[in-house]
Amino acid sequence: MGLATGHQTIEPIAKQPMADAPDPGNSALMGSLRKLPSPLILDLQACLGNASLVGHRTLGDAPASGGAYALILRLEQAVTVDLPRLAAEPIAPGWYLYAGSAYGPGGLRARLARHFKPNKKTHWHIDRLTSICAPAAALSVPGGHECAVAADLAAGQAFAFAVTGFGASDCRQCRSHLLAWQR
Ligand SMILES: [Zn+2]
Repeated sequence: MGLATGHQTIEPIAKQPMADAPDPGNSALMGSLRKLPSPLILDLQACLGNASLVGHRTLGDAPASGGAYALILRLEQAVTVDLPRLAAEPIAPGWYLYAGSAYGPGGLRARLARHFKPNKKTHWHIDRLTSICAPAAALSVPGGHECAVAADLAAGQAFAFAVTGFGASDCRQCRSHLLAWQR
């Protein structure tokens, strides 16, 4: 199963090299996709096959309804972020997935737009990371829940919980809502 992108499904991604000329109608999304390593996309497909991919320029296509999402972030350098209620712990460079839920006004579209915005007031743990590196892309799961997204990601070998308690101060079931890609 491929990652559904609105009405389209990106499939089979492995047979569709990133260097291929993108379909003009889908170029904004392909621009976001090109930033992601193919093995990461395959691992994401395996964990969250029904999620829809949202890129910087396709934010407007994200559903205005509520649901869960996963931000895809590339941290170029190790950072130590001073997080409220957490011990300062260095975060190693690499690819990270952050699982969140958006059930407020504007739903997933409004929340993802906020996460993609470079300058914002720090409100959540994740804001410390997104002010250092903008998300490369995001996955939306309308009607979903952040803990289910985190659990789906953690279910295989590809992603592991990172920074205990990150984004999960109020969560009693997840070790963290931040997961590191293990490759
Ligand atoms: Zn949770």
